Amino acid sequence: MGLSRQIDIREVVMLLGLKVNPKDSINSDTFNVQCPFCGDKKYHMNINCTKNAYACVLCSKEKGQGYLDLYSRAVHGVHCIPGPNGNGKEIYKELCDRLHYMQPVQCRPQSASACAPVQTRVARASDEVVGRTYGQLLNFQPFRLSEPHRQNLLARGFTDESIQRNQYRTIPKDYKWLSQYKSAKQICNDLSGLIQKNKMLKKRSPDELAAGFALCAYLQGAGCTLEGVPGFFKVGSFWCFNAIPGMLVPTRSMDGRVVALQVRRDKPKNWNDSKNEFLRYMTISSKGLPQGVTEGISRAHFPLGNPRLTPNVQVCVTEGPLKSDAAIELINLSEQSGSTFFIALHGTMNTKELPAFFKYCKKQGIQRIWNVFDMDKTTNAHVANAGKSVWKKAKEVGLGVVNKCWDEDYAKVKRLELSLLCAEHDILIPTTLNVFVDIANMARALEAADVRHSHKLLPDGTEVKDYWAPETKGIDDFLLKEFKKKEKGLDAS
Ligand SMILES: [Zn+2]
Repeated sequence: MGLSRQIDIREVVMLLGLKVNPKDSINSDTFNVQCPFCGDKKYHMNINCTKNAYACVLCSKEKGQGYLDLYSRAVHGVHCIPGPNGNGKEIYKELCDRLHYMQPVQCRPQSASACAPVQTRVARASDEVVGRTYGQLLNFQPFRLSEPHRQNLLARGFTDESIQRNQYRTIPKDYKWLSQYKSAKQICNDLSGLIQKNKMLKKRSPDELAAGFALCAYLQGAGCTLEGVPGFFKVGSFWCFNAIPGMLVPTRSMDGRVVALQVRRDKPKNWNDSKNEFLRYMTISSKGLPQGVTEGISRAHFPLGNPRLTPNVQVCVTEGPLKSDAAIELINLSEQSGSTFFIALHGTMNTKELPAFFKYCKKQGIQRIWNVFDMDKTTNAHVANAGKSVWKKAKEVGLGVVNKCWDEDYAKVKRLELSLLCAEHDILIPTTLNVFVDIANMARALEAADVRHSHKLLPDGTEVKDYWAPETKGIDDFLLKEFKKKEKGLDAS
């Protein structure tokens, strides 16, 4: 399907939690599972590891489909369609992200006999251990915040004070600083035999690995534990770190501990804005590398700017730690200070921590949760579905959910765009008093009628998704726009 690297279908089976026939083994070339699509209870779906494909005796009409189709149908309810106009690339990227493959590996077995056992489980250390190691990592001098990254944060609405408090850092792209760490380079040299034997490691540049060795030597010197901490892995008897260049954004637990790290990658030089070819934010992981943690890598983030959780605050669920940090910053600069509490997921589907958090909210006297996902929640079925799962989880503990919408002006533009499409296809949607509800209804109806919407063709012929204007897509973008408007107004008066 044009994607050179394949993911082992067994990873998808495990991610989806499909029930394997107890008589079978997930480590054999072929085994059966309960089909997630037809209400099957008797393991009618066959997983073929050699072909990396699935087929259900009861409901698969054609020949077996691939691992991406299995994932796509189970998570999004649609087939995976390859090709430039299909959803294949998007689904693939999403899957890589969910499996925490920084650089997806060729892990499809070459032949039936070479069907390697699935990766063994490597448990995550406690938050206390992880927090101490990450906390020390943020003190590593070569990772201090670069000036371009500081400028970027100021432009988002942060102050120098909050930039310092939140502890953003930079993993530099150039490795000049390594000249101070000769022993790390030596370790890398000495281990080159072992490195060449590992499919994932041999693709890394020696400098990239030496940077990881240098950091680990520093952390171990400070008495930190590296075992069980996501991002760290072992080569021979030496620990190394997956140092991905970019801006480092700490993810914090409710008590302020750093429990995960995200990297906001810099745009590559030849990156073309029109094609979203790479994942901007990556959660630092070492999954798939020797002794790399395999579970509990993504965590929910609680900004340090959050107020205390009292019955009067608005509890907002959003996606992206940096986005929520920026949003709380902008709210605290306004007269709304102290009114809003954020929990930010690493991805709209990383909802594992929500039930426990919602229970806690309920205990604190909170009545409802605000869905503050990006505005594509009104027009993009994927984001809308993610919102539904938040709603379900909130409802289970007796909390209400409100969709928070903003930028009514743009919503009116969007309504016009969609209503023209509806008219063209004889789809009649009664208008409500709420423009956001109208858009959502029209987007849903268009999708049900298989009419493509919210895309635009660029002059060079490529097509891009255009669910919402980028200026107000995220809550932070919107607040920043409002903040600047107000500042200008003050200047004028
Ligand atoms: Zn079936």
